[in-house]
Amino acid sequence: MRTDVLGVGFDNLTLEEAARAGADLVESEGFHYAVTPNPEFLLSARKDPEFKQALLAADLVLADGVGVIYSAKILGRPLKGKVPGIDFAQRLLAWMAEHGKRLFLLGAKPGVAELAAANLKSSYPGLIVCGTHDGYFKEDAPVVEAIRSSAADVVFVCLGAPKQEFWMVRNGPATGAHLMIGLGGSLDVFAGVVERAPKAFQKLGLEWLYRLMKEPKRIGRMIKLPLVLWYAMGARIRRR
Ligand code: UDP
Repeated sequence: MRTDVLGVGFDNLTLEEAARAGADLVESEGFHYAVTPNPEFLLSARKDPEFKQALLAADLVLADGVGVIYSAKILGRPLKGKVPGIDFAQRLLAWMAEHGKRLFLLGAKPGVAELAAANLKSSYPGLIVCGTHDGYFKEDAPVVEAIRSSAADVVFVCLGAPKQEFWMVRNGPATGAHLMIGLGGSLDVFAGVVERAPKAFQKLGLEWLYRLMKEPKRIGRMIKLPLVLWYAMGARIRRR
């Protein structure tokens, strides 16, 4: 059973458990997809039923960030902990390298996925990156065909939300991949184009602050985030 946080059901898993669940999906028949909602997703899902449905229908729904964790706590339904998409991806990459699974990287500006592929291959010896494609294409069909002919087991879909979630729902089954994961700006981090917050910030749940310091223009997006805590408080009070 999933844990409801403002209308989106989350899998209540530790990072280790999430990585195990991801590996199981790669090994099972058919197509699956994973989403990593943060507070911004929750706010968008309130206004966009199609996006909400794409999140609800995912095979794995992971709590990306402290905003979701705090909201769950306020609602009286605490989750085991945050499972940042990028950490989940890294655990899965280690497992994929050990098991000879094939990875396709989709998204970000031209050239970034290739850089990310080179870095990942040196960090995870044995990892097979079977293809890459940038995230600024007009037609889906050639990209679906590129993934299909690469025989990818796993695809990191990094187009930003909600584009990546819609893309996975619409095109995933035709690609033949077993698992797609919506991972936002992760390829920029893997490529070294964008720096991830230092460990101290990660531990304190202040990755958002570091990101804001690095990219002050995100303030317009971030200013709305405390709203999720406000909504969570409202929902808790109404339940009493
Ligand atoms: N992106 C893309 N195609 C698009 C729009 C965005 O490939 O049409 C990429 C963009 O280059 C960036 C990522 O998607 O690498 C989204 O990053 P953002 O910081 O918005 O995502 P977050 O990490 O906040 O979810």
